[in-house]
Amino acid sequence: MIPVTKPFLPPIEDYEQYLKGIWSRNWLTNNGPLVNEFELKIKDLLGLNHFLFLGNGTLALQIALKALKIKGEVITTPFSYVATTSSLVWEGCMPVYVDIDPKTLNIDANKVEAAINPNTSAIMATHVFGNPCEIDELNRIAKKHGLKVIYDGAHAFGVTFKGKSIFSYGDISTTSFHATKIFHTVEGGGVFSENQELIKRMGYLRNFGHDGFDKFNGPGINAKNSEYHAAMGLSNLPYYESIISHRRDLTNKYNKFFKNTVSIKDKIQIIPSENYSYYPVIFESEELLLNIKNKLGQHEISCRRYFYPSLNELDYVNGDAPISQNLSRRILCLPLYYDLSFSEQQLICELINDQFKD
Ligand SMILES: *Cc1c(COP(=O)(O)O)cnc(C)c1O
Repeated sequence: MIPVTKPFLPPIEDYEQYLKGIWSRNWLTNNGPLVNEFELKIKDLLGLNHFLFLGNGTLALQIALKALKIKGEVITTPFSYVATTSSLVWEGCMPVYVDIDPKTLNIDANKVEAAINPNTSAIMATHVFGNPCEIDELNRIAKKHGLKVIYDGAHAFGVTFKGKSIFSYGDISTTSFHATKIFHTVEGGGVFSENQELIKRMGYLRNFGHDGFDKFNGPGINAKNSEYHAAMGLSNLPYYESIISHRRDLTNKYNKFFKNTVSIKDKIQIIPSENYSYYPVIFESEELLLNIKNKLGQHEISCRRYFYPSLNELDYVNGDAPISQNLSRRILCLPLYYDLSFSEQQLICELINDQFKD
């Protein structure tokens, strides 16, 4: 069986070393030494001043919205994972969808201003497949209209923009360390901001509002993460470079096959992923996509329709986004993970090519 993704697991001995420490300290959660060490190492790796490790990437979005006191309408992308929209609705905000750029699949900055009205309070955009949004343009629009900007960087770990970590942009950037992401802590997520005041507020928000044992700084929630999750992050960190490097090799091999195979090359659009986090391809029709998905399924190879459906088509929101709706029906992510072998990949390519040959 070939899954669409498979979490990287470090040698078990690496994790056991951290477990021994947890056992001897008997400190399992609540801002323990491993959580602190993980936060420091992430800041160091990314060259950032502030980072809070959280329970997951969805709580990260919710805490970002709370910290910025976002209300009313929020301009957002229809092409993202459901959490980008559901966190808005969960926080009582109304998602307003602005369609995507068909080349990058990110929110089309040129269409944002037309969607702004007096009820608009923020822009929440996703760096889809790790590819940066039009950050400068979104920033300019936000400044002009007094809007906050939150970036959902769940796919964007390790990406830089203009020489700086992509997480340094926006009022707040969030990420996810879920098991399916390129770098993971089993479950986990985080918030980044250059604004120390916001970081302080989010620190209270993630821990029930605790300001010491008996004092509370506003209502908070439980969004912290544990020593066990930090231990997984710390165990995975030394392998981060080799994970990316193998994914780069796999990506290049897919590219080579699809671009050099005469029967396919003009019939499929490859969306490059800046950090090799996914391998998305767009087919000419939904029918072709379903045929290929079925064919691969018969050989126990999974692909994922990602993202599908377009978020504006969820039954609890409203809005039109014809480009996103169209592309979401035709996009498929092919298997890409550290353990995927080149021979398994070759089989995937050939099975896809079979659909184009006649
Ligand atoms: C995975 C993901 C999330 C949610 O992160 P979790 O850690 O699973 O809660 C949010 N947005 C995007 C774009 C994602 O891919």
